[in-house]
Amino acid sequence: MRRTSYWESELPPEVPPPADLPARVDVLIVGAGFMGRWLAWFLGKLPHPLRTLVIERDRFSYGASTRNAGFLTCGQASEMLADATEVGMDRVLETFLLRRQGIALVRSEFPGIALDECGSTDYDEITQQTRELLKALNGATGEEVYSVRTAQLGHEVRPSVFNRADAGVHPVRLLRALQDGASAEYAFGIQLLHIGDGTATLSTAGRRHELRYSRAFVCVNAFAGELDASSRVQPGRGQVIVTSPVQTQTDHSLGYLNHGYDYFRFVDGRLLLGGGRHMFRAAEATRELEGTPAVREYLQQLAQRIIGNSNWQVEHHWAGIMGFMNGSHLGGSPRRSVDASTEYVAGFGGMGVALAPVYAQQIANELK
Ligand SMILES: Cc1cc2nc3c(=O)[nH]c(=O)nc-3n(C[C@H](O)[C@H](O)[C@H](O)COP(=O)(O)OP(=O)(O)OC[C@H]3O[C@@H](n4cnc5c(N)ncnc54)[C@H](O)[C@@H]3O)c2cc1C
Repeated sequence: MRRTSYWESELPPEVPPPADLPARVDVLIVGAGFMGRWLAWFLGKLPHPLRTLVIERDRFSYGASTRNAGFLTCGQASEMLADATEVGMDRVLETFLLRRQGIALVRSEFPGIALDECGSTDYDEITQQTRELLKALNGATGEEVYSVRTAQLGHEVRPSVFNRADAGVHPVRLLRALQDGASAEYAFGIQLLHIGDGTATLSTAGRRHELRYSRAFVCVNAFAGELDASSRVQPGRGQVIVTSPVQTQTDHSLGYLNHGYDYFRFVDGRLLLGGGRHMFRAAEATRELEGTPAVREYLQQLAQRIIGNSNWQVEHHWAGIMGFMNGSHLGGSPRRSVDASTEYVAGFGGMGVALAPVYAQQIANELK
């Protein structure tokens, strides 16, 4: 059973799979999440027209993009410190700058889309290392993006790191805007079975269809392993709850706890809270899009701390699947060519909302 996310109440009406598919396209994009849609968007801006087809096996999108938390963020301090021990500070800074670029792209390409300009707050402990990191991040941009200030979390008042550049987005509204404004053709209910060397084998309503392409980009995120046994993208489920409307003293910025594993924001007066993956690692290494009672219970207890009272109920609970390159946040480039005309662009971990537009623009520039 599909448990819809809070955002999916705004899905457009379902369209049946097309009766006919083209025999050949210039560009085939597989997967209509943020990556596939941003790529279609930027390809549509090229000076020379390319016949671009986006195929998606779901009725709209079913992986991470419609089921995330909608944080348009360039990253928070405690997570970056943890990442730096794994991949080094240079890579962390590089990713921070890419995500910043992605935020700027969302703002410039869609000035009409309403963002929650609330900034973000990292409530983890501030150490000397944190202060040094903030200096490096601000230094890299020449702006005071990060500052230390006092913030309220439930009944706790504590020093915390504030990022003034981060914002919240409604993911489904952005996905719809990307599709509505693009010149690409979209076909839903079409599954890719096999791809390579200029030919894709598709399945639509039980029928097979062979499609030839000049270039293909397989943007299937955590599902890459279903198509390509040598894929290094590993799945990581993320679960989210949304409460009934709440009364709380907690700051209404995007919030992070526990090195970014737990994250929350306020939407329509409700708490949206995701996380718990670090507590249930083995069980969450799955492509199964179903939430579990254990994570729900964990999130419910954390919600009590964040809100500071128990005058609310959980009204929504869903799961989405992230793709982690080599099992890690910053485990390598999401781009991987399998032959001269076919490339996977998959594995953005928990960062795809800001990173996907950057990679999409990069690919479009290469096809100029
Ligand atoms: C709970 C949760 C919270 C998150 N919060 C944030 C956040 O706040 N900020 C942030 O930046 N990132 C966040 N992320 C990560 C972010 O959502 C992803 O990085 C991003 O959505 C990835 O986009 P994508 O297009 O690569 O993949 P997806 O959105 O997963 O899209 C892949 C698409 O491919 C389709 N597909 C798969 N196989 C096939 C096939 N064989 N044929 C046809 N179609 C196929 C799927 O149906 C799916 O629609 C979160 C993720 C989760 C799960």
